[in-house]
Amino acid sequence: MNLNCYGYGPPEQRKWIVVDCGVLFGRETSTPGIDLIMPDIRFLEEVRDDLLGIILTHGHEDHLGAVAHLWPKLRCPVYATPFTARLLHDKLEEAGLETRVRVKIVPLGGRVTLGPFAMEFISITHSIPEPNAIAIRTPLGTVVHTGDWKIDPEPLLGEVTDVTALRGLGEEGVLAMVCDSTNALVPGESGSEAEVRRSLIRLIGSLKGRVAVTAFASNVARLQTVAEAAEAAGRELVLVGRSMHHMVNCARDTGYLKNFPRVLAEEEAEHLPAGNVLYLCTGSQGEPRAALARIAAGDHPTVSLGEGDTVIFSSRIIPGNELAIFELHNQLAAKGIAVLTERDHFVHVSGHPARDELASMYSWVKPRIAVPVHGELRHMSEHARLARELQVPQAVVILNGQMLRLAPGAAEIIDETPSGRLHLDGRMLVHEDEGFARARRSLGFAGFIGVTLVLDRKGRLAADPALHMEGIPDAVQGPVREAIARAAGGKRGRDGDLEEQVRIAARRAANEIWGKKPMVRVQTVEV
Ligand SMILES: [Zn+2]
Ligand SMILES: [Zn+2]
Repeated sequence: MNLNCYGYGPPEQRKWIVVDCGVLFGRETSTPGIDLIMPDIRFLEEVRDDLLGIILTHGHEDHLGAVAHLWPKLRCPVYATPFTARLLHDKLEEAGLETRVRVKIVPLGGRVTLGPFAMEFISITHSIPEPNAIAIRTPLGTVVHTGDWKIDPEPLLGEVTDVTALRGLGEEGVLAMVCDSTNALVPGESGSEAEVRRSLIRLIGSLKGRVAVTAFASNVARLQTVAEAAEAAGRELVLVGRSMHHMVNCARDTGYLKNFPRVLAEEEAEHLPAGNVLYLCTGSQGEPRAALARIAAGDHPTVSLGEGDTVIFSSRIIPGNELAIFELHNQLAAKGIAVLTERDHFVHVSGHPARDELASMYSWVKPRIAVPVHGELRHMSEHARLARELQVPQAVVILNGQMLRLAPGAAEIIDETPSGRLHLDGRMLVHEDEGFARARRSLGFAGFIGVTLVLDRKGRLAADPALHMEGIPDAVQGPVREAIARAAGGKRGRDGDLEEQVRIAARRAANEIWGKKPMVRVQTVEV
């Protein structure tokens, strides 16, 4: 979930730009019912009149996924290179915003000037077409915002990292570099897409039976690799899952995948011999509604795999998805399907820089200040330590909402702005503090008891308490009912709060027999 704000000028005349505006996916365990999580942009709404534009580095969801949701609060132009702009366009169309948002397409290596910010897009490599670093020149110095990157000498698709431009910036003098920390704990280099291609072609060529490969649809180079591996092995390629088709179309429309082979429709592949088909599927993260989960559960309408078939996970496990993915592995294994992953075969490389690549980047750009972003705190802290080792004079780790002054003078955290998260809950955008997710978590854990007490004018019980219980085991219901009746009919406590007295009694009784305290709500009605 990336969103970085850059401001220039004295507070009363300060102008702003935003680089990236992304989402996180909600999780059933921690945020039940929440599809997407995005940054709370209260601070930006306040400076909206001075917000000159949103600049997108690349098309991953954690960098552009929030634009369609948050743009109505900001209403500024959005700048992106052609492939990213195409992905954004489809999202805006879904939100009915495509005619309202001004999306300005920037050519690769292009320049955009907004007020005091003179920006240059610099091609880098990552795991999606058209990743860009943004050099932001201001009268007080240049900031290089790397976006997500790695150094891939053979990215197979699109440009290689524009080292000349990065070196040129270093020679010109760079005030600060705001840089990807994802793999700051990983030694060495991330490896090249070309090596994965060679390995996957070999691996798939050696397999018998049906083969399915799952990968991120946005890794277009990987899709091309799988297509070539299919061709080399004499297998017909079948795309399974909506986002696979969508991403292939977006890539073709913007001039990529020119040599992508013929794709067979799912139904056409049903009658092919097992050794002649290769499925390229969505669902590498165990997403329950994606193609692979349905295939594993045996309820996909056209694709079925079994004994002697193979599924290759050409992807990494995104932290937090471990349980879902391992469950999927087990479901597949139970059907006699071989499961190959990056842990046992060379079928994936990361799109983020390992330590040697970070060292190269610092040697080219030579910033005076390092600002690690994109990672957990431990990644950013380690990245800062590495930057200092690499002779960067100052490295500052900032937390969400902190305002860092880069110039004039030494870098210093000068303010805290309101920050936090917004949850997309169905069609509504709600602040995390409204607590829906928390309430749903506790409901899911221990259920709900609703109690209605009918009192006469003197405050005495006029009828038996009416109870409504959800998700409470039968064996718990009786004792809870008795405890509520006792508490409601008994003497009031000193503070006389009958509702609270009943609530505590119900929770205590449930806890005694069950070891869990359900959510209890008590209301009183006077007759
Ligand atoms: Zn990315
Ligand atoms: Zn990212």
